[in-house]
Amino acid sequence: MRPDALNSLFVETDALDGVGPKLRRPLEKLGLDRIKDIAYHLPDRFVERRAITNLDEVSPGENVIVALTAREHRSPSGRGPFRVIAEDAIGNICTLTYFGRASYVAKKQLPVGELRWVAGRLDQYGQMLQIVHPEHVSEDSAAPLGQMCEAVYPLSEGLTQGRIAGLVAQALGALPELPEWVEPSLLAKTKWPQWRDALRAAHKASDVAARDRLAYDELLANALALMLVRESNRSQRGTPLVGDGSLRAKLRLPFELTGAQARSIAEIEGDLAQGAPMLRLLQGDVGSGKTVVALSSMLIAVEAGAQSALLAPTEILARQHFETLSRMLQGTGVEIALLTGRDKGKAREAVLMGLLDGSINMVVGTHAIFQDSVAYRNLALVVIDEQHRFGVGQRLMLARKGRRVPHTLAMTATPIPRTLTLAQYGEMEVSKLDELPPGRQAIDTRVVAIDRMDDVIGGVGRHLETGQQAYWVCPMVNENENDDLAAAEARYAVLKERFGDAVVLVHGQLRPEAKDAAMERFASGEARLLVATTVIEVGVDVPKATLMVIEQAERFGLAQLHQLRGRVGRGAEKSTCLLLRGGALSETARQRLALMRETQDGFRLAEEDLLLRGGGELLGTRQSGDTPFRIASLEQIARLLPLAHDDARLLIERDGGMSGPRGEAARLLLYLFERDWGVQLLRGG
Ligand code: ADP
Ligand code: MG
Repeated sequence: MRPDALNSLFVETDALDGVGPKLRRPLEKLGLDRIKDIAYHLPDRFVERRAITNLDEVSPGENVIVALTAREHRSPSGRGPFRVIAEDAIGNICTLTYFGRASYVAKKQLPVGELRWVAGRLDQYGQMLQIVHPEHVSEDSAAPLGQMCEAVYPLSEGLTQGRIAGLVAQALGALPELPEWVEPSLLAKTKWPQWRDALRAAHKASDVAARDRLAYDELLANALALMLVRESNRSQRGTPLVGDGSLRAKLRLPFELTGAQARSIAEIEGDLAQGAPMLRLLQGDVGSGKTVVALSSMLIAVEAGAQSALLAPTEILARQHFETLSRMLQGTGVEIALLTGRDKGKAREAVLMGLLDGSINMVVGTHAIFQDSVAYRNLALVVIDEQHRFGVGQRLMLARKGRRVPHTLAMTATPIPRTLTLAQYGEMEVSKLDELPPGRQAIDTRVVAIDRMDDVIGGVGRHLETGQQAYWVCPMVNENENDDLAAAEARYAVLKERFGDAVVLVHGQLRPEAKDAAMERFASGEARLLVATTVIEVGVDVPKATLMVIEQAERFGLAQLHQLRGRVGRGAEKSTCLLLRGGALSETARQRLALMRETQDGFRLAEEDLLLRGGGELLGTRQSGDTPFRIASLEQIARLLPLAHDDARLLIERDGGMSGPRGEAARLLLYLFERDWGVQLLRGG
């Protein structure tokens, strides 16, 4: 059970003043459900403002606080903005510009003839100085001076900076004092603040030590939890599986295994023969041939007289795997079944019977295969495809299914850098498919300026006329999911006008069944152009889809672009990927796109991505999706994870039961970052 010291942090957000049902929704959108989430909602950046008396002192683009006297209100003629003409202490003129309904507030806040303190960004507009939508207007000179350094928070629709800042202040005010879990010598060396001080400091200014401390806490929690899993796994009894090769010999593959495939299978075979359950990650780029490695491993289990299961992240992927494996298994006599949430009635009953009496040797499905109603005769190997969709906690739950812990093989197509592998998968053993099957054609990758949109659409048209299919990926516009959707829908409308019913749209807000149905239409060839937000990242295998257009490619991470691009180039036909880029690109963005053109090696792209992104993000842009972390940035992971890792190992070596004072504190940490499954293992073992 969660220690009482943390209770106040886990209270839901509506305990805060001003949070009701209406505010809860935008908070939930940001993943802010409890007080601790609010306290950990760290600013993206800070605006630094300069207090001035004379507008001549600054250059346009600077953030200022200045005393201005309103001289005139100018209401728009027609649709223009509302303007307040104002004057500084020595008669310089500045226009305060308001669009839409903001003008009502402006009229009240800036009465003609009166002096106000105004904070905002000073810009040059033609010959005029102007501030568009000042961020603060106040009668009292002390108030704006408190805004000299102001946090800028990630927002969602329905939230304002002021609102979220108010909630953060409440949450920070109520923080408990917690015992120290960081190694004292490390604290001394780094001069990091205590946990509570670090949280408060991180909201106040751009404070590297505070941010590092908070990131480190998260990394340490993860490292500890993974290590506890690993330890517990080691001490469990599994079922040693030794196959005689008879079934594998019956597989009639239309190709030779690559060296990397053969090596991985041998590594897995070695693990399976051991008494302790396997915990291995198979890391291989899209198209590197993970399926046949999975199948061979599953066959070893069957040869040894046990059952094996393959878990896919989505319904459609489960079906695809089932079909592929069934085809490959023809003539082997192995019984394979499909089980998803959608299967009902007699067919489902038959599968359940077969799993219970052992007449089914292999099952492929979604998480439905681990529901309580599903019992196995002797499940000894679980293969999890596209691992990053499932958290480690979830994986653990699965592993607890039988009386004996089954062997686990996790497969991922995300070629993450080594440091991140450690972060995500802890100390799992890793097999790498670092060699593509021979004869794979390079994907012709081109960077095209967005203003050539008409040409691009024309090209897509010609491509579809040849009977092939295409993907069109819409960008993440900003932090607001609704805007992303709006952009995708707008593009869909344009393409639909041109190509009619051949176009389908898939996005993250569709219900899973609707999403699967749309994907299915595309996979079957009925729909020919799939317009999508990034949800296709973990996706389907459609060999006839040989063209991919990615809009605003500069906004994606390299690893993500690579992952997306891997959806094409799967068949015999030559494939093309068009990276549409916006007008003004930063040097880094240019380099990244050039790299995409240059190489198709996912591991290299992942390493370069980390290098290119690393330097620029001191404050730590959150990398949702790429890593299991909310606080630590890529750069911080690369720098601090090795430390956290060593620290975690030391802690467990010295105090395996985590019962000493530091161990107790570290337990709190595990609960704080919701890695408490680690603690539960501790108690069990
Ligand atoms: P992954 O799951 O790693 O993305 P798959 O297992 O789906 O890749 O394999 C991609 C394609 O490559 C499949 O069509 C598969 O039949 C083929 N393939 C796999 N291994 C080899 C090999 N050794 N030689 C030639 N083709 C292969
Ligand atoms: Mg695959």
